[in-house]
Amino acid sequence: MTVKRTYPSLEGGRLLPLVESFYTIQGEGFHSGKPAFFIRLGGCDVGCRWCDSKESWNPDRFPPVDIETIVSQAAATPAKSIVITGGEPMNYPLDPLCGLLKSYGLEIFLETSGSSPMSGHFDWICLSPKKSKPPRDEFYPLADELKVIIEDVSDFEWAEQNRRKVLEVQGRCLFYLQPEWSRMKTVAPYIIEYVKEHPEWNISIQAHKFLHIP
Ligand code: SF4
Repeated sequence: MTVKRTYPSLEGGRLLPLVESFYTIQGEGFHSGKPAFFIRLGGCDVGCRWCDSKESWNPDRFPPVDIETIVSQAAATPAKSIVITGGEPMNYPLDPLCGLLKSYGLEIFLETSGSSPMSGHFDWICLSPKKSKPPRDEFYPLADELKVIIEDVSDFEWAEQNRRKVLEVQGRCLFYLQPEWSRMKTVAPYIIEYVKEHPEWNISIQAHKFLHIP
């Protein structure tokens, strides 16, 4: 069972429940292959059964860390790009974190389901909609990339529903279908054929898992 929790002591986003941070290579979507410093925040109430970071769901497991510490860890690496992910990072007000990262001249990418209110300022927003808690409308105009996880063929219609919602409000978004990792062998052939028939979509694979890096 997932429970949405709040942190009264978050001080408006100057403290955040940090699961982990690490410098690696982005493996998914448009920025795949780019070195990036990842900031993974704890807490998610979306509940995807195939989630590969279930350990991040309960924010109570991750004592809040001040954003100066988080950003100093990023700035100590050669990274020029930051990926803020989770969990669901939009469970927290991210304006202070984004402002501090920007003061170091870092570009900021967001990975979100879009299921909680928008905050922060980003150079790139990857919207990954989930059926169990769909995105709020405010995310569709903002998405630079729509990334839909395909677990079975019924997810193609979910992908198209979300693509239509993006196209109602903007025309610059890129569209990706990504096989759910544990179902890769089963769904990849369907995704390949679907993308060949619907060339407005691209395939995203989780390259970091093939490379055995975080
Ligand atoms: S939204 Fe992301 S972090 Fe949350 S359950 Fe789904 S895959 Fe996991």
